[in-house]
Amino acid sequence: MPLAASHAAPAVPPVDEALMRETIRTLSSDEYEGRGPGTAAEPKTLDAIIARFKAAGLQPGNKGQWLQDVPTATISGTNRSPLTITGGAATMTFKPSSDFVVGSYRITPHTEVKDSELVFVGYGINAPELGWNDYAGIDMKGKTAVILVNDPDYAMEGENGLFRGRRMTYYGRWTYKFEEAARQGATAALIIHDTFPAAYGWQVVESSWSGAQHFVQTANDGADQTVANGWVQKPVAEAILKAAGKDLAALTAAAQQKGFKPLPLGLKANLSFDNTIEKANSHNVIGVLPGKTRPDEYVLYTAHWDHLGRCKPDATGDDICNGAIDNATGVAALAALARMNAKAGPAARSQVFLAVTLEESGLLGSEYYAQNPVFPLARTVGGVNMDALYAGGPAKDVTVTGGDKSDLTAILRKVEGEFGLSESSEDHPERGYYYRSDHFSFAKRGVPMFAVERGTDLVNGGKAAGAAISDDYTNVRYHQPSDEYQESWDMSGMLQDVRLFYRLGRELADSTIWPNWHPNDEFRAIRDKSLAQAKGK
Ligand SMILES: [Zn+2]
Repeated sequence: MPLAASHAAPAVPPVDEALMRETIRTLSSDEYEGRGPGTAAEPKTLDAIIARFKAAGLQPGNKGQWLQDVPTATISGTNRSPLTITGGAATMTFKPSSDFVVGSYRITPHTEVKDSELVFVGYGINAPELGWNDYAGIDMKGKTAVILVNDPDYAMEGENGLFRGRRMTYYGRWTYKFEEAARQGATAALIIHDTFPAAYGWQVVESSWSGAQHFVQTANDGADQTVANGWVQKPVAEAILKAAGKDLAALTAAAQQKGFKPLPLGLKANLSFDNTIEKANSHNVIGVLPGKTRPDEYVLYTAHWDHLGRCKPDATGDDICNGAIDNATGVAALAALARMNAKAGPAARSQVFLAVTLEESGLLGSEYYAQNPVFPLARTVGGVNMDALYAGGPAKDVTVTGGDKSDLTAILRKVEGEFGLSESSEDHPERGYYYRSDHFSFAKRGVPMFAVERGTDLVNGGKAAGAAISDDYTNVRYHQPSDEYQESWDMSGMLQDVRLFYRLGRELADSTIWPNWHPNDEFRAIRDKSLAQAKGK
């Protein structure tokens, strides 16, 4: 039950609605061409954000500069050979695109996997906090991991399994499986596609892996990644396992049991392809309000400024994806929060306002910041990410993405109490949305981040009204030229959102607590390690 708003609740400065509207109107106008990174719209957008940060009273956050360079590399695979499997009764050959997809995370003109031993590694999960290691006792050097999609208990009804049942954990995301295979030193990693646990068909995998892949540049050009990552169709995996005298269904059942051991298949994989590499540069904007008593401790507000730029024209010929809701609203909230916090006077801890680029290309701006943090992540207490605030009225509830993962839950519940708000879970916990927005770039490195938004049970009109707004956005506007600002927007719900974000951020910034992940959470170990290292210095 929500508590009644308490008289003791801390004051919240007024949200500047005019500033919010003016920022959304400006950033989503046709003049800004949908804010495509690397286009003529980028410098305009950066200037507009800096002007608002300055006016609010922020200081430049990157060693006296407002901007952080975000160097990127786009890798496009070409001339893909078939996948050839040797070592069975007969050599097997599979076709690129229809049978398998593959790409490289390394910046290299040519990729070759030669006579690499195939090892079935179940779900490819190494989770020490759960006592689970699909790579137990094997050295993956030179080898190719064959990996099941999702995690062992995805098919459960509730969320009580070791891997939180039907709720997706990071261990179930395909990105994790490639990262872990690389940590294990594998040469290559192949995920076995399966429509139900993957939640999308082969054509989605095929189309997203046939085009260019975007990365942030790293000092070693991706040398710590595997040589090649890819997916194979389920019948292809079945055929390969059959050639090894194994059965996919039986191996899947075995892999769902604790104590599963990786299984060398006695077969070898061969494939090759070329890579075309394009390098580019975009920018994050960073402003800071230094803390009063503990300025070397940091609390984040983040929002992505980029959108899709020029896109597929609609029926009227409009080819500008303006990105008003996604995410001019988040940047407007960032500007409003900067002003509110500056007006309230410095918090105990420093507050960092970070407008990141290239979210739409795969969270690259936040990923780059997290790889190259201006303020140490071990001194970063936590933060609030804002992506797509809806027009419309206030809600009775708050929707939490990712569920109860950390000590931030207690802070959220306290603030919900102040506002008299109830809490709702996201609609599709199996889809893993927590792992698909900018807060995740921080979470995966141990920094706890709020991922909350206004719920859909509206004060006026209840759930029907909330669903109508959310359906209109999802079906008619999301990533389309019609995501435009209208003067007729009811801003009252967005103002409620900003007040909530103010309190969440301010609660962290004025306290001495160091929120951590719950003991069995996937990000607990990395946070413990990072905090221990910081203490040791
Ligand atoms: Zn967005």
